[in-house]
Amino acid sequence: MVIRELISLIELPVTRLTGVGDKKAKSLLELGIQSVFDLVTYYPRRYVDRSRQAALADLAVGEEALVLARIRRVQARRTRTGKTIVEVDAFDGTGYLHVIFFNQPWRAKQLKEGVEAAFFGRLERFRRVTQMSNPIVDLIGDRTGRIVPIYPQSEKAGLASWEIARLIEEAVARTGDLLDPVPERVLDRLDLLSRTVAIRAIHNPSTMAEAGAARRRLAFDELLRLQLMLRRSKVETALHSKGISHLVNPIFGNRVHTSRLNSGLFSQDSSLEPSQEVNSLVSEFFGSLPFDLTGAQKRALDEIANDMRSPIPMHRLLQGDVGSGKTLVALGMLLMAVQGRYQGALMAPTEVLADQHWITLSQLLKGFTVPGSRDSGLFEESERQIRVEMLSSKTPTAARRRILEGLASGEIDIVVGTHALISDGVVFHALGAVVVDEQHRFGVEQRAVLRERTRTGHGLDPDVLVMTATPIPRTAAMTVFGDLDLTILDELPPGRTPILTRWAKTPDQYLKVIERVRTEVANGRQAYVVCPLVEGSERVIAKSAIDEFERLGAEEFQGLRLGLLHGQMLPRDKEAVMDEFRLRHLDVLVATTVIEVGVDVPNATVMVIENAERFGIAQLHQLRGRVGRGALKSYCYLVSMADTEDANPRLEALVSSTDGFFLAEKDLELRGEGTILGRRQKGRSDLKLASLSRDRDLVEIAQGVARDTVGDDPEMAGHPLLQRELNAFQDPEESEFLFLS
Ligand code: ADP
Ligand code: MG
Repeated sequence: MVIRELISLIELPVTRLTGVGDKKAKSLLELGIQSVFDLVTYYPRRYVDRSRQAALADLAVGEEALVLARIRRVQARRTRTGKTIVEVDAFDGTGYLHVIFFNQPWRAKQLKEGVEAAFFGRLERFRRVTQMSNPIVDLIGDRTGRIVPIYPQSEKAGLASWEIARLIEEAVARTGDLLDPVPERVLDRLDLLSRTVAIRAIHNPSTMAEAGAARRRLAFDELLRLQLMLRRSKVETALHSKGISHLVNPIFGNRVHTSRLNSGLFSQDSSLEPSQEVNSLVSEFFGSLPFDLTGAQKRALDEIANDMRSPIPMHRLLQGDVGSGKTLVALGMLLMAVQGRYQGALMAPTEVLADQHWITLSQLLKGFTVPGSRDSGLFEESERQIRVEMLSSKTPTAARRRILEGLASGEIDIVVGTHALISDGVVFHALGAVVVDEQHRFGVEQRAVLRERTRTGHGLDPDVLVMTATPIPRTAAMTVFGDLDLTILDELPPGRTPILTRWAKTPDQYLKVIERVRTEVANGRQAYVVCPLVEGSERVIAKSAIDEFERLGAEEFQGLRLGLLHGQMLPRDKEAVMDEFRLRHLDVLVATTVIEVGVDVPNATVMVIENAERFGIAQLHQLRGRVGRGALKSYCYLVSMADTEDANPRLEALVSSTDGFFLAEKDLELRGEGTILGRRQKGRSDLKLASLSRDRDLVEIAQGVARDTVGDDPEMAGHPLLQRELNAFQDPEESEFLFLS
């Protein structure tokens, strides 16, 4: 028998199979199935396990059960309120089952008299009749076997699950044995099935355990392909780019794990002894702070210093919860460049945030100096103030010209800005460090543009640190940002009082919220009110914020000093409002989500989020992070009186925890990975089986295998099978993974 590669099946059109003509091929195409490959990787959505099938006569009310029964009668009707109800009577040889479907009018077409179906649901008793409402239903047709795979079907495509099953059965049978691209010793070590066995077992398992093992192997393959792609591009970049060996030593004496990439072929000079000399500016700066850095901050800075020293450009992701002190870590990195007379750039996603960073950095760096001129020798006596500027698309022309000159001449040491920093016309004298505060909007492609744009005159790439304001589960980070090294700030500065979070569900509770705002304001504190998310253009959003601002001023917060902040305002007006709020000339800031990231006013102690049910977990957590930034006790109120739901897992999660990483896992669980993997087209490399929340361990395992497999060779010459498979899977847009914003 021939043994083939899985990817060779891509070349076999489905029309090669028995009974597949043009019409059926067209239907299959609607499911995205073109080739035999597509068929064998069209995986069951679930299984009907006949061994778990129960006889109606044996079942008690309240039990969840799988019942196989023949349909006797199907009837559809409408309620007075216009909803559709489909009722089905079925008989399983031991008893009758009444099945009722609310608002699923298509069931009347799907379920026909005489057909056998599997119903899975909870048994109820209604007027002495045994009944299930809205059960899971699978049409099994005349398929035999103890475990029947159920495939996603498409009513529109006119293909039933069992038809697809028949085609897959034939496809699998004719495929025969498959070459396994993963070496046997690796499979043994990881206790994974061979590919041939896994493909057969996932479509036709003899036990549920076997189906599970098959799923695990195939999910591993998906994750391995992803990790291999990421690893290759990482090694590729490392091979083809040359970075700056910054003069910096680990500052805090943490032992830094040097990644495999940074050793071996890429060996570097690591003989530098820690010395005050080299780190003068950085040490001086951290020594001047009125507090100690957290252990996590120190570790992060040492990792960064280690990377900065290496001639391989750093690409590192800094993850940390709200308030974990990322800004100081970022600033430390910028100073590592500046002390060696390179320049630093900090890029923020919004105007407001860039402005905030600029204020923070300017204040923190007041009084610090750098040696006079970069070209005038290392022992130049003259010193000058560190110069920090801000550049955005809204910067007035004259100022912009001045800043561009300063960047080109090297007189500006640090520039803070928006995407304007990588726009045309911006040329750096010697850019050495870039921090991207990215809030998920900065993908592989943008990073490539950044590299292009920021390469120094000598063709050296600056070191890059990407900061995420919202924690992402580790596995997701490894998948989406797998080409970056990961640093996690898992520690908050001491002395923070946890934020008390409450869900205001009733008008009474809402009144208490208002009272709280008034009491805090009376005590000299400040509050934010975040307006409900509304659909529509920026203009519509602004309009609703203005309305809310006026309403609150006239009603709940009459007599308080209110400010308004929304995205349609001119940058200078936004700045003015933020300044007034910082200076405590305002008590309550009514805002849209423009305040979501980075706004830092430690005197603000109450956050009120209106219609909280319209926000996602990450957004709520970010908004909440605007308070509790000092030692003052802070409060967050999620106002949601939507009467449709009294359970809202998102709001409940927020109330129960202030841990961003816990919330991120929760979010992933609730929303699935689709939203995280983002904007990609459906393609062959999609995760069909693997789940980033369920298969956490597999992600890590796959990453390890990918690292060993690629080694120093992005061509993977030693692994021809994997190499061919990757090439077949990878098309240009596939390697681009972006978070949805
Ligand atoms: P993040 O950006 O991670 O949300 P920030 O960098 O804005 O957090 O820091 C939040 C606040 O905590 C800032 O006011 C900052 O000055 C302060 N801070 C940072 N690190 C420490 C520390 N080690 N000890 C005390 N306060 C700190
Ligand atoms: Mg910050």
